[in-house]
Amino acid sequence: MEPDWTCPFCSLLCDGFALERAGEALVLQASDCPRARAGLAAHARSEAPAAFVDGSAAPIDEAVAEAARRLARWRQPLFGGLATDMAGARALFRLAARTGAVYDHGDGEALAQGLRALQDRGQCYTTLAEIRARADVVVCVGTQAVAHYPEFFRRCGLDRPDTPCQHLVFLGVEPPARLPDTVPVQCIAGSGDLLADLQQLAALLAGAPLRGAPAEIAGLAATLRQARYAVLVWEAATLPAHGALVVELLHRMATSLNRATRAATFALGGSDGAYAVQQVFTWLSGLPLRTRAAAGGLQHDPVRFAAQRLLDEDAVDGLLWVWSYAPDRLPPSTKLPRIVLGPPGMGPLLRQADAAQRCVFLPVATPGLNAAGHLFRTDGVVVPLVAARDDALPGVAQVVARLLERMEPAA
Ligand code: SF4
Repeated sequence: MEPDWTCPFCSLLCDGFALERAGEALVLQASDCPRARAGLAAHARSEAPAAFVDGSAAPIDEAVAEAARRLARWRQPLFGGLATDMAGARALFRLAARTGAVYDHGDGEALAQGLRALQDRGQCYTTLAEIRARADVVVCVGTQAVAHYPEFFRRCGLDRPDTPCQHLVFLGVEPPARLPDTVPVQCIAGSGDLLADLQQLAALLAGAPLRGAPAEIAGLAATLRQARYAVLVWEAATLPAHGALVVELLHRMATSLNRATRAATFALGGSDGAYAVQQVFTWLSGLPLRTRAAAGGLQHDPVRFAAQRLLDEDAVDGLLWVWSYAPDRLPPSTKLPRIVLGPPGMGPLLRQADAAQRCVFLPVATPGLNAAGHLFRTDGVVVPLVAARDDALPGVAQVVARLLERMEPAA
């Protein structure tokens, strides 16, 4: 195939790849990214997609009609997972508004940390292109970066002989085994308490006296001050407890540095449609995820409307779970009735997990694999996705539109 495939399996959305067909499988060329290879292997075509109702196979029209009937009966639905693309998010918002649902992404906890810091203090943010062109100091804070985003250093151009980067620093974390050999690497183990180390670093950058600061933290402060363009990289999924405080400190450090030089933060997160859904729901309603589309108006509560909390507190009476990426990302364990939109491979896994009862399963396509679509990259750029193959499957947007058609108009 032409090298025009954009990988949808993490929010770096690497583009320009070619895929080779090997029987039913698609094999990635020119990259050994383990996350992409695992993603492709998980979606290798096997059995025909099959909808079911309570474990019994059903024609798709009947399954959609039954799902619509059940959804209309729920007094307080929860929409969880929400791993879809922008078109799917638009359709899900309409359905949430129609049913009065509360909605949260499957990785909503990590998403909420960065959002909270942004709401409280704003942010100094950068893009992959800026890092590639300008960053001379890159500090990975509490993250190896490439453990979950394997192509990150390559996307930042750190493997190129002409990279402007002079220092790659890992703070509070062991460096990964594979590192670019073009850039000097420094590891600062820190005290074991990342928040405390960052508080000290932020104080130094704000002009506090050096007295009592560990030499390695003081040295990092000096490196950051001398940098022409420093970038502080953090990863939502690896933040310690009180992650929002960590993110706030990073933004504060970037602000301090920007008084004399240039600096920014860069977040790794938002995979599986998380950023796409967050953006789409926010621009359609004015409020982010963890909101309830109540009849009397929208209610946003980032703590109370966390999906797992609602399930734990029996505060909802039905779960619509949408996960169009990894087939094994099943809905959380619950006794509640469920409607599940997932790739065809998810159906058999639901049965194996004994989770097929009180469940309607509707197979959907995966954006970037067997459907076109659009996603937000981790640095906020909208990226179009092409289908690598055609499995004649509807996307989340089409299935949700059919659910809406089947439901009675709101009273
Ligand atoms: S880093 Fe992410 S987007 Fe890039 S190839 Fe790997 S899984 Fe795909």
